[in-house]
Amino acid sequence: MAIYLKRGATAQAKADRDRSVRDTVEGILADIETRGDDAVRDLSIKFDKWDRDSYRLTPTEIQDCIDQLSGQDLKDIEFAQTQVRNFAQIQRDSMKDVEVETLPGVVLGHKNLPLNAAGCYVPGGKYPLLASAHMSVITAKVAGVPRVVTCAPPFNGKPAPAIVAAQAMAGADEIYCLGGIQAVAAMGIGTQSIAPVDILVGPGNAFVAEAKRQLFGRVGIDLFAGPTETLVIADEIGCDGELAATDLLGQAEHGPDSPAILLTTSEKLARETMAEIDRLLQILPTAEIARKAWDAYGEVIVAENDEEMVRIADEIASEHVQVMTRDPDYFLNNMTNYGALFLGNRTNVSYGDKVIGTNHTLPTKKAARYTGGLWVGKFLKTCTYQRVLTDEASAMIGEYCSRLCALEGFAGHGEQANIRVRRFGHRDVPY
Ligand code: NAD
Repeated sequence: MAIYLKRGATAQAKADRDRSVRDTVEGILADIETRGDDAVRDLSIKFDKWDRDSYRLTPTEIQDCIDQLSGQDLKDIEFAQTQVRNFAQIQRDSMKDVEVETLPGVVLGHKNLPLNAAGCYVPGGKYPLLASAHMSVITAKVAGVPRVVTCAPPFNGKPAPAIVAAQAMAGADEIYCLGGIQAVAAMGIGTQSIAPVDILVGPGNAFVAEAKRQLFGRVGIDLFAGPTETLVIADEIGCDGELAATDLLGQAEHGPDSPAILLTTSEKLARETMAEIDRLLQILPTAEIARKAWDAYGEVIVAENDEEMVRIADEIASEHVQVMTRDPDYFLNNMTNYGALFLGNRTNVSYGDKVIGTNHTLPTKKAARYTGGLWVGKFLKTCTYQRVLTDEASAMIGEYCSRLCALEGFAGHGEQANIRVRRFGHRDVPY
């Protein structure tokens, strides 16, 4: 039976926070629905102190941002984008269209069709998270989306040069400097100046994630990708206290609402890690945020064995799961609920977040129970079609269809089948 050396926020506290975010978002979406661009501008001024006639960046402004980066910055962004593009392309190539004759004369198929327009949110409230531009814009482009719109908030009162450069280098068609709910709503609902998109993607804080959730249905969304979560699964063979603490705080620094959880079979490692966290919080430049997250949401769980760790990890269904144990592949082979796995101590969540090539937009709040992260497939619709090649096949299927329609009481559907049995099978349908 696992023991908890440290527990995070209660379910009640989390529910209260969710309710308050939900109410805020609801009000703001209604305002944007009614007043369009005027509401977007008022909200941008209110939340980001950012006022412009048009939030779309001009080619000159975009070039200015690129020019502010060093040659090394640009090379690093290019390297990361190449990794993301390569892996996305491999995933795209693995998605084949299908056409097959399932019965003599019966042909069924599906095509993977790119969506026409995607809205990619790039977070930038606390940090200019340029990596999110690669993750969504490049992936949409690899999928073949013709219109890719992207929004990121101002950072220190102006467009963040690194984000804008990454958005442009990734191939975005429209770049707006707009943040939070107002950005998501402008892209999802559309305003006088921004045409609506077909899908909203990308990570963000609790407000951004909730805005996407509330707009779902009217527009597609990739997944619920809210405040970052991390779970470190470790034992004394694969890990030590310093490594575990570094990897927990590395993700806790995302925001004060980012859970970081240690799950281990070693109480000794657990206690070492907690001591290391206290030490690192004295020196980490982002300790103020990380400490809040660790104090409010950090957890330390000591389990009896690997099997119990798999059970608990699947229950948590964390966005990131870093495995540093004797046999990391045991978790790859047995876990079912996770956004992304980082296997072994040579890799880590930061590699995935920034550069290695897998997508960093990942499910939070247990959404990993029903979805993986953002990938090229989220920008494609798998649409089916069918053909019947012979009269015999049409009449044969028609007879089955006719009887099944009768079972459901659908007379009109039944007649669609019957007319074909009479016309192509030259026989009356006896029911
Ligand atoms: P953000 O861009 O998501 O949000 C900033 C915007 O929030 C601001 O522009 C502002 O308009 C709005 N805002 C702030 N306070 C508000 C309030 N009280 N009411 C209404 N709107 C408000 O940037 P951020 O805040 O730095 O958050 C980024 C988030 O993205 C972090 O929580 C991080 O963990 C998360 N993230 C998640 C993933 C994932 O895949 N799940 C990946 C990367 C980052």
